[in-house]
Formats: sequence, structure tokens, C-alpha cells
Amino acid sequence: EDIYEELSPLVSRIGSQKRQLKTQAEEKAKAEQMRREFTANVSHELKTPLQSISGCAELLLGGMVKPEDVPRFSRQIFSESQRMIVLIEDIIKLSHLDEGASDMQWENADLYELAERTAATLMPAAEKAGVLLLLTGKKSVLYGIPQLLSGIIFNLCDNAIKYNHPGGNAVIHISDDEDTVYLSVSDNGIGIPHEQQTRIFERFYRVDKSHSKEVGGTGLGLSIVKHSAKLHHAEIRLQSTLGKGTKITISFPKRHIVQLLADK
Ligand code: ADP
Repeated sequence: EDIYEELSPLVSRIGSQKRQLKTQAEEKAKAEQMRREFTANVSHELKTPLQSISGCAELLLGGMVKPEDVPRFSRQIFSESQRMIVLIEDIIKLSHLDEGASDMQWENADLYELAERTAATLMPAAEKAGVLLLLTGKKSVLYGIPQLLSGIIFNLCDNAIKYNHPGGNAVIHISDDEDTVYLSVSDNGIGIPHEQQTRIFERFYRVDKSHSKEVGGTGLGLSIVKHSAKLHHAEIRLQSTLGKGTKITISFPKRHIVQLLADK
């Protein structure tokens, strides 16, 4: 009986180590599969615009394009290559985030001020789409990486403008309480079907491929948001009704400021 008592913690420890190893192996296999899928997707997403660029250039070089069509073909080459640049920039951002973005500067940042600047850069796009972009709320400071926080706001607002109707609106709201800073971006645009709501944060996932191509975008915006939020230990909440609109709320813990002071 004594031996059993001595052995039983050991046995249960071995059991839990075995379980841990199993989940680690499962996670590794899952990550490996995701990497493979990502590489396949990237190759496909880059090949499509490149084929179009190459085709247009070939026709132009061969003198196969009527003079009046030359501007149209040139525009096509320009816009497809722009698309590729944005895509490559997003891929670089994601791989940087995957690596933990350890070279980026953490500081006390006012999310409201960052939103003001980000909204200003999006004003022309909002005006072009006929969407009213508004910023409400108040100064709210958290300890974070300003560049990533601005990126989060940019991607959410960009979507609220893109997946909207002329005359619609996109509202950024910033607030805080004792230990949390809240960012929400809401729109009264096209909304997201219920069954796809868990998937839109996946890399390259788009609800409507043809519409997404029309409005531009890479399908990587929300995964960049997800990774940037994770790095800040923030939580993301999505509320959306098809045909009515979407609201995404991100809650950032402020606790890092306290930790930083305590460390000193
Ligand atoms: P994209 O570059 O296609 O915009 P995202 O990762 O930013 O990529 O978003 C993924 C998909 O989620 C979009 O293609 C769109 O179908 C859907 N989506 C994102 N934000 C909204 C929104 N505010 N309203 C409706 N659909 C949205």
C-alpha cells in the first residue's frame, strides 16, 4: 500500500506529461499544416495578378493592342502590380508578427490620438465610397505598440468603409475604464453571414470573393488585426447581422503600465 502511495503521484505525473506531449505534437502538426496551406495560398494569390501583368505586357509588346486600348492595358498592369505590392507588404507584416515583433517599440499610447490620425488617412477613401467616417469617445492610454495599434484601427475602418453602401457610416469609438481600453468600429454596411463569422479572421478568408476583389484587399487584414491584438493580450468580439451591419470591439488590458511601474 505504501509503495502504491509513493508511486501514484509519479504515475499521474507521467500520465500528464504524456498528455502534454500529445497536445504539443498535435499543435505542431496543426501549425505545420497551416504553414503549408498558407504557402499554397500565397503562391496562388501572387500568381493571379502576375499572370495578368505578364499577359497585358506581352500583348502591348507584340503590338496587338489598338492605340485607343493602350491606356486600359497600362492601367491594368499598374493596378495589378499595386495589388501585388499591398499583398507582399501584408505577408511581411504577418510574418513579422509571427516572429513576435520583438524589435517594435512598446510605449504609453493614446488610442484616441492614434485613431484621429488613422481616420484622417482614410478620409479620402471614405469620401470616395460615400461613407461617413466618424470618431467618438475620449483620450484612453494603454501600454502598447503604436504602429500595430494604428494598423488595427486602419484595417477595421478600411473594412467598415469597403463593405458598406454609399450613404452608410463607419463609427470608431474609444473609451476606457480602470483597467481596460475599448476600441470599437461599427458600420451599417453589408454584414457577415452568421456561419462565416468565425472564419473571417483566417488568412485569406473572404466571404464573397468577387465582391472582395472589386473593393480590393488581400484577405489578410483581419488576421493582422488578430495577431496584433493577441500580442497586446487583447480580446476581440464580433457582432454582425447580414444586411444590417457589423461591430468589432477590442478590449485592451492596461495592466502593462502597472507592471512597468512596478518593475522600476
Ligand atoms: P479583405 O482584404 O478581403 O478585406 P479582411 O481579412 O480584412 O480581408 O476581411 C476578411 C473578410 O471578412 C472580407 O473579405 C469580408 O468578406 C469580411 N468582412 C470584414 N470586415 C467586414 C465588415 N465590416 N462588414 C462586412 N464584411 C466584412
